[in-house]
Formats: sequence, C-alpha cells, structure tokens
Amino acid sequence: MSKLIILSNRVSLPNPDKSTAGGLAVALQDALSDIGGIWLGWNGEKIENHHDPHFSSTEYEGVEYITCPLTEEQYSGYYCGFANGALWPAMHNRADLIEYEPEEFKVYQQVNRLFAHQLAQITHPDDVIWVHDYHFLSVAHYCRELGMQNRIGFFLHIPFADLNIWNQLPTAQSLIQDLCQYDVIGLQTEHDQKRCMDVCHHFLASQVIHYNVLNYNNHQITIQCYPIGINPELIQKVAQQKKENPHPIFEFEDLINQKTIISVDRIDYSKGLIERFNAFEEFLKNNPEYHKHITDLQIACPCRIEIQAYKNLYELIDSKVDFINHEFSQDNWQPINCSHETVAHDDLMKIYLQSDICWVNSLRDGMNLVAKEFVAAQNPDNPGVLILSKYTGAAEQMSEAIIVDPENRGDMIKALKTALTMSKSERLERYKQLMQGLKSFDINDWRNAFLKDLRRVPVLHIFKSPLRKSYNRIVSY
Ligand code: UDP
Repeated sequence: MSKLIILSNRVSLPNPDKSTAGGLAVALQDALSDIGGIWLGWNGEKIENHHDPHFSSTEYEGVEYITCPLTEEQYSGYYCGFANGALWPAMHNRADLIEYEPEEFKVYQQVNRLFAHQLAQITHPDDVIWVHDYHFLSVAHYCRELGMQNRIGFFLHIPFADLNIWNQLPTAQSLIQDLCQYDVIGLQTEHDQKRCMDVCHHFLASQVIHYNVLNYNNHQITIQCYPIGINPELIQKVAQQKKENPHPIFEFEDLINQKTIISVDRIDYSKGLIERFNAFEEFLKNNPEYHKHITDLQIACPCRIEIQAYKNLYELIDSKVDFINHEFSQDNWQPINCSHETVAHDDLMKIYLQSDICWVNSLRDGMNLVAKEFVAAQNPDNPGVLILSKYTGAAEQMSEAIIVDPENRGDMIKALKTALTMSKSERLERYKQLMQGLKSFDINDWRNAFLKDLRRVPVLHIFKSPLRKSYNRIVSY
C-alpha cells in the first residue's frame, strides 16, 4: 500500500503530549498515522566532521521517524550557510544580506543528495513523497537522478522571491531546474504562486499550460497556492482549558488595569521588531495619557545565533527595549516586558487569550501563524484586536484585521490607536469574520488539498535527458 513520506529539515519527534506541539507538527503527524508513513530529517544534533552521519529510526503510533545528525561542516555550509545565509534573505527580499559562498552551495547540494539517497532506500515506487521548505530545493533532482519515479511534492513555507532577487543568486538557474523536478510545488499565497510561475518560466523557457501548470521537458509541474491554516476549534479549547501550573512568563494579575499588546516572534530581521519598537516609542512619546496603562509583551525567541546578522539583531533588540524602558518606566510600570524564552504551545494560547491586542509587524513573512492563532484563542464574547502587517501571507486572507504598513511609523501608530479604542461591537464583527475564514480552510484542509493534487499526478516513466544530467519524464497512463 502507498505510504506517505515526509522530509523536513527538523523532525518533530514523537510527543505523547500532543497539546504542546505546534499545529503543523500535529497535522503532519496525523496525516502520517492515518495512512502510515515515515518522517525523515535532521535530528538537530551536530557531530565532528570525521564521523559519518548515520540514520536511526524510532516508531510511534504507526509512524516511523528516521533522523540523522549533521557534521559540523554540513551544519555550517548547508544550514547556516546557503539555506539561511543566502536563500532565506533572498526569499525575504533582503538582497543586501545575501552571503553567497560557492563552497556552501556545494555542501547544500551534498546534504540534499544525502537525503535523496536515504529516500531512495526507504521508498517503494508507489509511495508519495512530500518535501518541506527551502532547505531542500534540490532533493527531487537527486531523487530523479537515482531513478525514482515517485510522486514528489514540495511546499515552500516562506515567501517566493521576485525575479530581480533570483537574478542575484549565482546558482538560480540550476536551483530552479532542480525545483522543477518536483511534481507539485505548493506556495503560501497567490502572489507567491504567480512569482514562482514567472521565475520558473523565465529560467527554463518552459511552456505555460495553464495559470498553474508548466511543462518543462515533457514534465508537467503544478504550481499552486495552499495557504497553511491552523486548527481553530482546538486552539479555542486549549486557550480556555484550566492548567495547574500555567507558564508564569507574564504576570497578568499585575496587568489587570492595563491594555496589553502581545507579539511573538523569532528574532529575525524579517519580523520587523525594531520598526515596531520605534513606533511604540513614538506612541508613548506623543500619548502620555497611556503611560502606566499599556504594556507591550514581547516573546522574542533567539534563533540562528551563529549567523552574524542574527547576533547583531539580538543585541540591538535588547538595547532598544532597555532604552524604551529606561526612558518611560515609572513607579512599578515598565512599558515593555520582553522574554527570550520559548513558551509551550498550549501556554502561548492562554497568553493570547489574556491579551487585548496582537501586533504582527513582519516586513516579509510566508504566512505568520501567530496572527491566526491569536484570533482562534480569543474569547468569542469579548475578543481582542489583531494588527497585521500587509507583508504577511496571512494578510491575504485576514482583511478584517487592522492591516498596517510595518515600515510606516505614522500608519502603525494610527493602527495602535484604532485597536485601543475599538468598540466592542466592531471587535465582535471583525472576530466573527476572521474566525469564519480560519474555519473555512484549516490545517487539515491545507494538508488534504496538497496531497490530493499530488496523488492526482500520473505515475511516470523516466528517460535520461541531455540537459544537466537531469531526467525527463514522459507520462504513461
Ligand atoms: N511558538 C511557540 N512558542 C513560542 C514562540 C512561538 O509555540 O515561544 C509557535 C507559535 O505558536 C507558532 C510558531 O511557533 O505556531 C511560529 O510560527 P510563525 O508562522 O508565526 O513564525 P515562524 O517562526 O514560522 O517564522
């Protein structure tokens, strides 16, 4: 029987207490355990260069988890190097931060080949393979080289860059050729879908069969938008569940007379943290009546700290928060309460429920799940307000939020005032519409829609192409 095999950079290892896991991990685990399957990826560990990374396997509730460590060299060249030092800034419109090193690109390709080899060992011809995210643009290419005819799909969780940015990556042409060895390419938004179609068509001189189908060397590729969702009913339940010892990260009892703003971000230049703090600082300067009556709660989780741009930002954020707190604190009140701790997912849902406003300020973001989770966690009788950057994928579906330009300070301050003074009836109306949207295409719909399109791909024969040693495929019904 056909199995589902998922490949992602990090594997969400089995957790008997699913309530602490994020929505994506749960949705993928559910898909795997429904039909039986394998989750393949990096186990998060690093080993010395002279050791060979060995795969090991563990089983939980009908799902097999196969993971391996990375050598120091692989971690630095593939993960910190090409994936997060070149591709990530490129896809987030930060051409100024792209650090392209040919050696790192080679290691990226080696790691993609390593996982393709592992896929070849564990896959039967009728199994369906679903590869996730920018770490693995080239895996399908290496699978085809190994003669694998399986249906292979790819979902990009982050935005897809414009052609002018791709043109600044020296390896763009070969990456796009590799990407087009997938059968289905999934993107977060309609804009990403269009950009992906345009870029692939440009580099490959392919034939456009339909608005979402390309033909490249007799291989049809579906390029389709599948906006990732959440499980709104479950989040609503989890947010309201009483817990013995909830995470004491913020003392809401002490904030009872305050308007609270929650923001939850990895410390990443794409999240617009500094721009948001600048706007909040100006708001406090010009609106002294809010002093002692508003608190900004920021969860800022450090990540990729080995990369200089991330280290610099981490330090900048701390000094900005200290500066604002120093400038405005009075008595027992301090305007920003910033934590660098990662909070368990169910505790985070309770924090959303207790907050009046959620402010998502990304300068560019594939989707932004925090925006969706905040809405789902609200009290339906007295919901909070979402301020949402127009540059998030979520903004394409959540037009009833207060949509802001995260680079325009005046616009952000106006949005904050609108949120603070919004009538209950307007909050209720916006919440109703937003919640309807979340329910109409949830995380399971996202997964099912992608897999349905992938399973529709006919089983193919492969013949070798003169082009780039890659393989062309012709359909046989
Ligand atoms: N998250 C969490 N605990 C934290 C911070 C974040 O569980 O302390 C989760 C959050 O609930 C969300 C995800 O991490 O599901 C972040 O996803 P998002 O799309 O907002 O941003 P990303 O980090 O993927 O760019």
